[in-house]
Amino acid sequence: MKRLFPVRGFVLCAVVAATSVGVLAQPNKYARDPKQLIDEEYTKKIKEYTTEPFFLSPLVDYLPASKTVPTPKVVLGDVAGAPGKLPYTAEVHDYMRLLELASPGRVKVFSLGKSEEGREMIAVAIASEVNMAKLGENRARLARLADPRTIKLDDAEADRLVNLSVPVYYITGSLHAPETGAPTALMELAYRLTVDESPYIKAIRGNVITMITPVVETDGRDRQVDVYKWHLANPKQSWPSLVYWGKYVAHDNNRDAMAATLALTRNVINFVVSQKLQVLHDLHESVPYLYDNTVGDGPYNAWVDPILTDEWQLLGWNNMAEMTKFGMPGAFAHGTFDTWSPGYLMFIGAMHNGISRLYETFGNGGADTVERKLQPNDYARTWYKQNPPLPKTMWSQRNNNNYQQTGLLTALSYFAGNSKLFLKNFYLKSKRSILKPKVEGPAAYVLPADDARPGAQAEMLRVLQRQAVEISRATAPFSVTMPVKKARPRGTGGDEAGGKPAAEAAPADAPKAGQKADDKPKTETRQFPAGSYIIRMDQPYSRIADALLDYQYWSPTDPQKRPYDDTGWTFGELFNVQVVRVADALVLDAAMERVTEVKVPTTIKGAGTVFVVNNDADPSLLALRYRLKTAAFDVAEEPFEAAGRKFSRGSFVIRNAQTADVQAAGTELGVQAYALDAAPSVKAHPVKTPRIGYIHTWLGTQDEGWWRMEFDRLKIPYDYISTQIVAKEANLIGKWDVLVFPPVGRGAQQIVAGMPMWRNPLPWKTTPLTPNIGKIDSTDDMRPGLGWGGVVNLETFVRQGGLLIVAEDTSVFANTFGMTPGLSVAQPTRLNAPGTVMRAKIVDGASPIAYGYGEDLAIYSAPGLVFGVSNTLGGRGGGGGRGADAGPSRPTGRGTADDADQPQGRPVVVPPPEDPKVEAWQATPVTDEQMRNPLGIIPPPQRPRVVLRYGDARDLLVSGLLENGNEIAQRPAVVDVPLDKGHIVLFAHNPMWRGETQGSYGLVFNAILNFDQLNAGRKLDEK
Ligand SMILES: [Zn+2]
Repeated sequence: MKRLFPVRGFVLCAVVAATSVGVLAQPNKYARDPKQLIDEEYTKKIKEYTTEPFFLSPLVDYLPASKTVPTPKVVLGDVAGAPGKLPYTAEVHDYMRLLELASPGRVKVFSLGKSEEGREMIAVAIASEVNMAKLGENRARLARLADPRTIKLDDAEADRLVNLSVPVYYITGSLHAPETGAPTALMELAYRLTVDESPYIKAIRGNVITMITPVVETDGRDRQVDVYKWHLANPKQSWPSLVYWGKYVAHDNNRDAMAATLALTRNVINFVVSQKLQVLHDLHESVPYLYDNTVGDGPYNAWVDPILTDEWQLLGWNNMAEMTKFGMPGAFAHGTFDTWSPGYLMFIGAMHNGISRLYETFGNGGADTVERKLQPNDYARTWYKQNPPLPKTMWSQRNNNNYQQTGLLTALSYFAGNSKLFLKNFYLKSKRSILKPKVEGPAAYVLPADDARPGAQAEMLRVLQRQAVEISRATAPFSVTMPVKKARPRGTGGDEAGGKPAAEAAPADAPKAGQKADDKPKTETRQFPAGSYIIRMDQPYSRIADALLDYQYWSPTDPQKRPYDDTGWTFGELFNVQVVRVADALVLDAAMERVTEVKVPTTIKGAGTVFVVNNDADPSLLALRYRLKTAAFDVAEEPFEAAGRKFSRGSFVIRNAQTADVQAAGTELGVQAYALDAAPSVKAHPVKTPRIGYIHTWLGTQDEGWWRMEFDRLKIPYDYISTQIVAKEANLIGKWDVLVFPPVGRGAQQIVAGMPMWRNPLPWKTTPLTPNIGKIDSTDDMRPGLGWGGVVNLETFVRQGGLLIVAEDTSVFANTFGMTPGLSVAQPTRLNAPGTVMRAKIVDGASPIAYGYGEDLAIYSAPGLVFGVSNTLGGRGGGGGRGADAGPSRPTGRGTADDADQPQGRPVVVPPPEDPKVEAWQATPVTDEQMRNPLGIIPPPQRPRVVLRYGDARDLLVSGLLENGNEIAQRPAVVDVPLDKGHIVLFAHNPMWRGETQGSYGLVFNAILNFDQLNAGRKLDEK
């Protein structure tokens, strides 16, 4: 995870007493068995590679010997953590399978599935022969504890099952590829757990089933090992940074546990859910020397069971107490990491009634032993870090492996000693998830059958299914009691935001404490049609559904001033579908059936040779154009009626297509077509299959990866090109119609400059030494950026009729280098919106970019840009934020505030009518004075066209933390800037974020599809 910030406060000091709970009364708990044979040679190497004696512990200062089981040396050629040794994924897996082969009674390897690039993920289970022989029986018991409905919520039966069962502690390593230590630590840990006969290890084997995935990001691991090998082969040179980790995203693979878009996330969810695991403990490397952020800092996620937060304290503080006794410096549990977002991989455990844990240890980004000098904040002694790290020390991968294994072994030992407590808690958390409707609520979330966006609704339901949430569907209409909507307080998102009610009410028969009978909240009845989806909260995994579908509120006065990640994510809003939070438990009595596969109806309705498809801003619509490549597509510029229903602006009229082909594409993409005898009479323009160039830099691919993933998911064809290609290709328009340039995260000037050209070239290409890199894209030298030639080529491309799509820092780039006349761009200075869901309003519904959208839309912004538009070159543009705050304004003089002044001693002159009010998203109209010499006046067809703006300040916040929102309130968010024959479409926010913002994908895809028709529906200024 990211490097952490200095820590404040005494937030958690009251829980320190918890450390004494459950410590076994054994004076030499971790002493090795005197009869235990030791691998002397291996042990000698452990000591040699450990740079200080206090970086060792009695748990890892020797290696038990075995006559039959191979040590990690058999694969590594040296001991775990040895300098220069970084095994590939396959080597790590080979070792785990050798372990299984040598000790089949204690070890079993599971396959979890494959990565995007086809590399296998595994998990290794280790326990005593008795436990392994009954793995299946144990899992069957855990399944009943995991779903207490199967035992009718019978606590006595649960106790019986708990007594018979053994919990599972699951450890995951190498999610973040540049954090390189976990695989070797976990190989050695697996060996120790398998062969060591010391009493405490036997107790772990007997009371816990340890499961280990040594490499989670298998693709990234192999690329990282390539880079390290390149570094070893070129010791005096600077080495290429790991520009690709996984196929799509880098560090953000640890932010995917909500939408579960990556293969590794889905594989881990499936494993946790199918094996009924009690703990998911994820290993990371960033801070010296071991930060157990199980305890972390507030605010804690508001949807987890308090039993879990108690478990965090128990496990975290016990872990530190043990590490303290070993005298290992730099072990600590408290830090600024908050546990608000459920996006982290470990949270798969937390959200499925288990326990989430995470270590940050200290890695060198490779296996070199080097001197590490720390910052004062890192080595300061604090209340939670009484034995802090050293200001300066030699640090080795072996040290890192010692810390990882020592922490894990003490944690496993504690867990083994309290296995029944944690199993009982697992049952209680599962039971309390099922009791949600009767306790805290809600009873269910309902997704109405008549939602205008069935495709997006289905996609969001599939996310829930990936999370193992049960989905039901009403087989008959039903009604529930809802609270009457209250006026929303100013400055809050509120549950009824944007007309998408997610209102909540206490059950009608349960007035709130202190409430008089006569001031019960007013209620109304709400009807839902048959076919509406119901997500019941009386199911074991209700918690993850509740967390994703509910609203988030992070107070600006929260003591935590540095949110670690996104503060809002409300999925119904970001997917642009209706989600109704229902507290009325009667909803559970509605007639319904379980749904295993969510499908939208796609059987073509009607007959004829012309097909119409409604535009509901579904991302699949762009894919449909490519699937029916040879067909003729017209796009309606106005709403129309046909086949007995209404079609929105942007709907397709398709000719020259075979019914079977339309049906096949519709079925694949979840798109409903209607067949007609003749095309409807509506103004329309043709759309082609645009040739898409997709631009990336060699600086970072983290944010563009989320965009690329969606193009790939829908199989939208594109050429993946780097800024270096753009720099070389003078005739971009000869190859592409649309260039998509997603956010880079490095700023406009670095996009042009690239990396510094000093020292050696940085190749990113497939070679015998580096077989795993260079596949997604390759270059002989990553350093050169776009360059001035590339800037000129891009501008020429647009002027010749191309469309350039940019967002966030690539918007700044296009603006900085003069491609966007009339648009001003600034960074907010006061706005605090660290990953917030905000309300936006469609300004120009006739723009093709807005096709299929309603009046408003929730967008993700973190924190976005401040756009302004002007009709003059160099104008700052916009109403200057006058907006709602603008009061009456007149010069000092006679009369009231509304009167005109009157100079004395001359006849009355009636002043001309005031200029119309200019809103923050509008350009100030051109005056006759300016038109006397219109040199700087942008001709009306070349002026920026605002498509979407941020909401008004009082409506802006939907979910998360928002402070000083008025800095961007009402400002343009999506602007279409014409430049000669082409267009640049600029986003102030990131419309394609972590697989969570499906609702705003359509803005990008509409622009692509209508790239040469973006002026459709445009009303031009008169002058
Ligand atoms: Zn990490």
